[in-house]
Amino acid sequence: MTTILVVNSGSSSAKYQLVNATNGERFASGLVERIGESVGRIRHETDEVLSELELAVPDHAAGFAAMLDAFARAGTPVSGLGIAAVGHRVVQGGSEFVEPTLITDAVAERILTLGELAPLHNPAHYQAIVAARVAFPDVPHVAVFDTAFHQTMPPEAYTYAIDTAVAGEHGIRRYGFHGISHLVVSRRAAAFLGKPVSSLKQVVLHLGNGASACAIDGGISVDTSMGLTPLEGLVMGTRSGDLDPGLMLHLLRAGYDTDQLDQLLNKRSGLMGLAGSNDFRDLQRAAGSGDAASQLAFGVYVHAIRRYLGAYLVELGGADVIVFTAGVGENSPALRAAVCAELDWFGVRIDASRNAAVGGGPRRISTDNSRVDVLVVPTDEEAEIARQTWQLVSA
Ligand code: AMP
Repeated sequence: MTTILVVNSGSSSAKYQLVNATNGERFASGLVERIGESVGRIRHETDEVLSELELAVPDHAAGFAAMLDAFARAGTPVSGLGIAAVGHRVVQGGSEFVEPTLITDAVAERILTLGELAPLHNPAHYQAIVAARVAFPDVPHVAVFDTAFHQTMPPEAYTYAIDTAVAGEHGIRRYGFHGISHLVVSRRAAAFLGKPVSSLKQVVLHLGNGASACAIDGGISVDTSMGLTPLEGLVMGTRSGDLDPGLMLHLLRAGYDTDQLDQLLNKRSGLMGLAGSNDFRDLQRAAGSGDAASQLAFGVYVHAIRRYLGAYLVELGGADVIVFTAGVGENSPALRAAVCAELDWFGVRIDASRNAAVGGGPRRISTDNSRVDVLVVPTDEEAEIARQTWQLVSA
């Protein structure tokens, strides 16, 4: 019995998958959307069934109940699925959760209080955790933290240069996110190259709707672009990435309040703010047909990635591997070509036809004589959560 239910709750949505922990095989997956709005939606998928339903999903507990109903309607009630454990992705684990952790009452409460640092995510995780522990009282529940992988960063990488008393009082430091993805992608890149991860210096570029870069030395995160919150760093779908913090003071003085700033920087910035869409495919199409705003947005997006790539090449003292992953990184040859353009001096050479080829699994897009291997490696956070959950409960 190695079937793990993986629950990945976002601020207003929840993804779930039923995964075989030993080989990553997926039996079912689904997405509950528009949680908290008047009309929500659930999509449930197996090899045989695809069902979609609109219903009210007032909170994440109701979202979890909707998932249980979807399994029952598909003729596979969860009671008969032999679920061995439930793995919960938790965005913010603070400085104390550095490994997958068995969820007790105390751990659940701590995840809730860490919501001070992740107000959109941790309270949602907590609701789903409570509902899941009621629905599956006899199996272990494990929290897998997005921040954990980055707890290895040295102090100079995670410390913000502000008054240390203020930083200490408010838990202000760089935590980093996307850790589950950076970990699984860096391991898979090493496996693809047939080399131990401990022997490689890697820069992993996770470019999806959220985006972050990570410098990984011997399998250990030494720096990452997201910070106290997932707002810092690269330009994203709707998030600004790096800014002059003075910009916020300027807008506060101009009359903005906290909620307006939050909306502006998290929902109306990034590609959305610059070009009116957070979908990279739309952006590329519009840029291709001459839309100047989309062309600029593409340029700004690439510029931010190259700044971090350059910084991490210096921090690592050179890299063996650059890895592209997530929706944009895995699927946009144009973006990859722009990021890697004119990096000959750094030993980076892209093969145009390898880069353009469409492929499912890990693949090399650099030339045979490129000193740095440039790879596309699909991320799979759910398989990694299932693996880590199983590793803990089967130990
Ligand atoms: P993710 O958050 O990893 O699901 O990534 C979502 C982003 O990937 C969106 O901006 C999509 O537009 C983008 N994306 C997905 N497929 C493609 C594609 N074929 N070409 C360019 N961007 C894509």
